[in-house]
Amino acid sequence: MQLHPIAHIDLAALQHNLACVKQVAPDSRIMSVVKANAYGHGLVDVARALSASDAFTVARLSEGLLLREAGIEHAIVVLEGVNTVSDLQLAAENDISLVFTTLLQIELVLSTTLSKALLFCWVMAETGMHRLGIPAEKLDQAIQSLKRAENIADSIGLMSHFANADLLRDERNQHQLDQIMQCAKQHRLSVSMANSAAILSFPESHADWIRPGIMLYGSSPFKMQSASSLNLKPVMKLTSTLIAIQNLKTGDEVGYGGDWVAEHDTRVGIVNIGYGDGYSRQLSNTGSVKIHNKIAAVLGRVSMDMIAIDLSHILHAKEGDDVVLWGCEQLPIEDVANKANTISYELLCQISERVRREYHG
Ligand SMILES: *Cc1c(COP(=O)(O)O)cnc(C)c1O
Repeated sequence: MQLHPIAHIDLAALQHNLACVKQVAPDSRIMSVVKANAYGHGLVDVARALSASDAFTVARLSEGLLLREAGIEHAIVVLEGVNTVSDLQLAAENDISLVFTTLLQIELVLSTTLSKALLFCWVMAETGMHRLGIPAEKLDQAIQSLKRAENIADSIGLMSHFANADLLRDERNQHQLDQIMQCAKQHRLSVSMANSAAILSFPESHADWIRPGIMLYGSSPFKMQSASSLNLKPVMKLTSTLIAIQNLKTGDEVGYGGDWVAEHDTRVGIVNIGYGDGYSRQLSNTGSVKIHNKIAAVLGRVSMDMIAIDLSHILHAKEGDDVVLWGCEQLPIEDVANKANTISYELLCQISERVRREYHG
């Protein structure tokens, strides 16, 4: 009996989703977002499968270096930029492009001499997110100095990030886009603005480079629209194994704190997955799983390594049977995320090292 959960990664689905991106935004170049271990799917295997991308985008330099170590030759863009001279040097040596996100980062690149110049870089403009980005009143000067910077061989592009792209026709999106487009026109810069939600719902924002993340992994960025209605295919199916069966009597309690009490005699299954694998503890007493093509409720608290499920209506279930946690038709990850009071992004990223990734297709 296999005693560990598996994240089955469907590389053909990943490629299908990339093809969808191209179909929706045929005139833009694609920097596929593979930060956070490719949203939990495995950085290097995902990047290899997405070789039809024009570039890869990561959050941190360390992720870009892992791609280079694995022999990935695409352009790589580090969204957070870097904050030390040694990291600037590492980025330059490894042909990794940076996004300059603060005045401090710009001062750093202007005041150092690198042994090799950086390739095409980006400047992040603050347009409404108030996270990282150069504020409007400092932007012209920042762009002019980066354009002249000796440590940057090629030109620079203009980037910003929508704060509300998942809200359809929200006027704040248009406002952010207007600011970027005006600045890009003035300085003749190429633009990158759109994440998955904007790619799917706001074609005016596509511009030169798009940055799809979640849609590549086959999950919907919208609360009210399913992935299948967007023609996206889920890439990860998370499964584990039924490892024990308990026959509870009326009044018996399940798990820590006895948060679930049997109201009648109940057949309870123990499944080998818990929050130590990234199965959210928020799913205590509210989640559900699939076994023998039927849905079974999660009973009591999710523990670190196990959950309990209700097998009252699945009498032929036995030890060793497969259990699906998400990624099938009856259990889309968006629904699981809703129940856990979070978004699919978080569930995917939380899948821990302990879960074996198996690649198919
Ligand atoms: C994570 C990220 C993306 C990708 O967003 P999705 O919603 O997953 O498509 C794009 N741009 C930036 C700046 C990001 O941080």
